[in-house]
Amino acid sequence: MTYVFPIWTAPALPIAGSSDTFPVRRIFCVGRNYAEHQKEMGGSGREQPFFFIKSAHSLVPNGGDVHYPPKTGNYHYETELVVALHKGGRRIDARHATEHVFAYAVGLDMTRRDLQQLGKDHGRPWDFGKDFDEAAPCSSLVPAAKSGHLTKGAIWLQVNGKERQKADLADMIWSVPEQIAYLSEYYTLEPGDIIYSGTPAGVGPVKPGDEMHAHIDGVGDLKVKVVPAL
Ligand code: MN
Repeated sequence: MTYVFPIWTAPALPIAGSSDTFPVRRIFCVGRNYAEHQKEMGGSGREQPFFFIKSAHSLVPNGGDVHYPPKTGNYHYETELVVALHKGGRRIDARHATEHVFAYAVGLDMTRRDLQQLGKDHGRPWDFGKDFDEAAPCSSLVPAAKSGHLTKGAIWLQVNGKERQKADLADMIWSVPEQIAYLSEYYTLEPGDIIYSGTPAGVGPVKPGDEMHAHIDGVGDLKVKVVPAL
């Protein structure tokens, strides 16, 4: 038996300081996980976390270009700490959750904000707003063995050299271990799953020609340019 057309290459992320790569299975993203961003999006207080999913095929490597996506007039950046799991599990205890974390990265949860809003307004899924081609730029992975497990440190984004987002990882409402524990109540997590852990306040639009530079202390930098639509 053979495939009726050639099987695609597994989506994967490079690992800093290694020639190995990390195959990516699923991308989970947490919504509204920084208090100031939760406020700007209309939330209040410590609500239960919620998640959505992006296809692993939407990853874009550091230094890559993202094409302005179709069917939107409000294409937004969201700078996020990305957490890569090398160990799966169900009902993972938050106290042991960091044992499942292989590495960290800097990611951009690119969003068609107008389509996301349309989904919210009509009680429809967020997929068209969040899961589209090139919607998940991500830097190389920095192994936790090197960075340690990150609970604080600056996270910021500049667009064309101007600061647009700036916060501290300590401002997360749900910590990384809590996110892993919560997700694993609903899913059997698997090696290769990665989590975009939410964005701070200051989200906003970008257009073709804009250069995004995201940074997280202890992890590094992610630089991506927006180019005209395909
Ligand atoms: Mn996000």
